[in-house]
Amino acid sequence: MNLIFEIGKEGRGLSLLPKCDVPVTDLPENLKRQSELHLPQVSENEISRHYTKLAQRTHGVNKGFYPLGSCTMKYNPKVNEEMAALKGFRQVHPLQDESTVQGSLEVIKMTEDILSEILGMDAFTLQPAAGAHGEFTGLLLIKSYHTDRGDTKRTKIIVPDSAHGTNPASAAMCGYEVVSIPSAEDGCVDLDALRDAVGEDTAGLMLTNPNTVGLFDKNILEITKIVHEAGGLCYYDGANLNAVMGQARPGDMGFDCVHVNLHKTFSTPHGGGGPGSGPVGCKAFLQDFLPGARIKGNIEDGYYYEDSPKSMGSVKMFHGNFLVVVRALTYMLTLGKEGIPEASANAVLNANYMRVKLAKKYEMAYDTTCMHEFVMDLSELKHRTGVSALDVAKGLLDYGVHPPTMYFPLIVHEALMVEPCETEPREVMDEACDTLLELYDLAEKDPEWLHAAPHNAVIGRPDEVGAARKPVVKYTWE
Ligand SMILES: *Cc1c(COP(=O)(O)O)cnc(C)c1O
Repeated sequence: MNLIFEIGKEGRGLSLLPKCDVPVTDLPENLKRQSELHLPQVSENEISRHYTKLAQRTHGVNKGFYPLGSCTMKYNPKVNEEMAALKGFRQVHPLQDESTVQGSLEVIKMTEDILSEILGMDAFTLQPAAGAHGEFTGLLLIKSYHTDRGDTKRTKIIVPDSAHGTNPASAAMCGYEVVSIPSAEDGCVDLDALRDAVGEDTAGLMLTNPNTVGLFDKNILEITKIVHEAGGLCYYDGANLNAVMGQARPGDMGFDCVHVNLHKTFSTPHGGGGPGSGPVGCKAFLQDFLPGARIKGNIEDGYYYEDSPKSMGSVKMFHGNFLVVVRALTYMLTLGKEGIPEASANAVLNANYMRVKLAKKYEMAYDTTCMHEFVMDLSELKHRTGVSALDVAKGLLDYGVHPPTMYFPLIVHEALMVEPCETEPREVMDEACDTLLELYDLAEKDPEWLHAAPHNAVIGRPDEVGAARKPVVKYTWE
């Protein structure tokens, strides 16, 4: 397929630039372009066809099933987009006087308050732009707390091996030493290993719950107690709140701070690289350390900014990705108090529905009721037939299904991690299960076909490492 630069003809095209409404100034010579500016010269018709073709080559949640575990690829209601596109939200400037942006401040305050209610926290910041950014911010909260008390010997963060990969990375970026503890047989945190790991040098624990094998840790109260008794704080990675929202609250489980991904559970589209939002919530004793100016006030008397002298400073400019917040608030308000727990209940129901159907043939990494996702272990299949998790994933492409997450979490070899989400109808899940079961049989009957899959995709098996390490993102003119 040609790039946009390679279609069209000199002189063709359209210009819809608005009239210049500021005085024209001459730029200094050294700032002026020295070479010709190559812009695509295409008609509206050509542009439309070009992007439609691109869209047709892409698989998205609007096209078909997208069961990527850990990613929560739910369908995003279009009303969210309509709200985010309202001029009053789209065209405000963060430096406008408070009195002129009361509506936007109300959106922020309301979102912080609803998130606090859902997570069982006392305060929230909407500044972090992603989940990992939220983790970093949450760890800075923990660090600020210990430092403020003059407790400087706490240099370690404990991270169970079933945590999301960003957890240890964020702790290391924050200057902490990461102590990894193994999971027990049942996929939950090994309590004895945790007891051995905590001590006077423990700054805190980061727990992904449900963890990356889709299990809710049954010892959660004991876990937070052990860490607190050692003087550490507890951080809850709630990036995927899809099984938990409206059902249970990290704040009630003993956690001191938490992040959620608005671009997962709270329905902002993601997968194309942004913009995201990873709000961080905390208990009252940590709130003075939160980043940025806090929004105070209420609808009757108006909203205003207030700085905290103990704030860690800003982790992003102003209020983070504000329009993502508008989408999330729209989502939470349209679902409401009844809809939020209903959504999480359906997410868990759908995952278990698929898990039980697939367990007829596939081996489950943990054969127990899961939360919003489950992990299949294809090691035995690979050993017996030579067909790997990658081969099955590639085979799915020929059936129009986006593969589940592969080779994650790392503690399961040949892993396929499935997360259907609450928005999938039963027929779609039935069809995907039938396909996966058919591929299982194919692995036994015709492994070669699966080794060579996909047979009908535009791109088959690209050099993924090469694409990641040496991406070509710049167009070079001949
Ligand atoms: C996605 C995810 C993250 C990281 O979120 P990003 O927005 O990609 O930085 C962290 N933890 C868990 C459990 C996740 O699923």
